[in-house]
Amino acid sequence: MYKRLFIPGPVEVRSEVLQKMASPMIGHRSKEASALQRRISDKMKILWSTQHEILLSTSSGSGLMEGALRSCTAQRAAIFSMGAFGKRWYEMAVNNNIPADLFEVEWGQANTREMIEQVLATGNYDLMTITHNETSTGVMNPVEEIATVACQYPEVVYCMDTVSSTGGTPINVDQLGVDICITSTQKSLGLPPGMAICTFSRKAIDRAAQVPFRGYYLDLLQLYEYIRDKDYQYPSTPSLSHMYALDYQLERIMTEGLEARFDRHWQMAEIVRAWARKYFALFADERYLSNTVTAITNTRNIDVADLNRKLGERGFQISNGYGKMKDKTFRIAHMGDHTVEDIGELLGHIQDILKLQA
Ligand SMILES: *Cc1c(COP(=O)(O)O)cnc(C)c1O
Repeated sequence: MYKRLFIPGPVEVRSEVLQKMASPMIGHRSKEASALQRRISDKMKILWSTQHEILLSTSSGSGLMEGALRSCTAQRAAIFSMGAFGKRWYEMAVNNNIPADLFEVEWGQANTREMIEQVLATGNYDLMTITHNETSTGVMNPVEEIATVACQYPEVVYCMDTVSSTGGTPINVDQLGVDICITSTQKSLGLPPGMAICTFSRKAIDRAAQVPFRGYYLDLLQLYEYIRDKDYQYPSTPSLSHMYALDYQLERIMTEGLEARFDRHWQMAEIVRAWARKYFALFADERYLSNTVTAITNTRNIDVADLNRKLGERGFQISNGYGKMKDKTFRIAHMGDHTVEDIGELLGHIQDILKLQA
């Protein structure tokens, strides 16, 4: 049975966007393919307020995270984590034999400017990774504050995971001092999974040139040089189907207007937060709440799986807590193309199923 997804990826995809995936194939060495890829890059630069080059990868976001670490760490990486996805960077570093240190905060908390300053001041690191929006905890890092530290370390390549926030909240990549900003299609951008996008700054390009073994498929310097020399084409065959849908969806996003889109996300978030405070509790530190996903502490000790089963019968799906937070929390994603009305409908059903007083 068809369910409307309120999980933090993959998200509900508009049918006209889905249909773009069924466009007839074109040769990936054609002028049309170049034009398609260039249109996507131009729109992503607007969405991210960036002058950096845009790279597309036929992989999920994790592919570009691994590619960034591997392509741009010459000495040692500082991995700042506030949850499961932050820690993923560290696992990638370990598995690729990249020297790295992990700096974690408790789940529900954010990485502070002070913490980052202290670590970078050691001078031990030439790359750092930060999660913008921690999907496992519903925390959004204070990246504007962090930017004031990052800009004092010109030798550090700054990588930011915005997989669950790009498209749902403002991210001004250049202002934030980010070199490699990474996202996936299947979250706030409102597309099917299978493609990832990142920025690649001059600093990142120069660094990658000093790293001898960058792998092959996810060698970001190779991708960059290829699109530069071959008119925006990629070394291996990309998912053109995703590109059609991405080009179309970015056009829809521009038509909605960035401000309007981000405001809609904020409104949806505010509704879910108010509801969660009333009937349960928010898991995340109130100062750093995510605009795209809310983690709710299960103070009533409800059976989350049973709630989801019953929601499923009504055509809805939410998410249990992530990993160790399963059943202790549950999550409602308010990202992509959902509306304030959709969120109201979902909460109405949850309230009805749990017999919560209005
Ligand atoms: C979903 C998610 C990822 C993983 O992205 P994939 O596209 O599934 O590889 C990484 N980081 C965050 C914050 C996420 O929400």
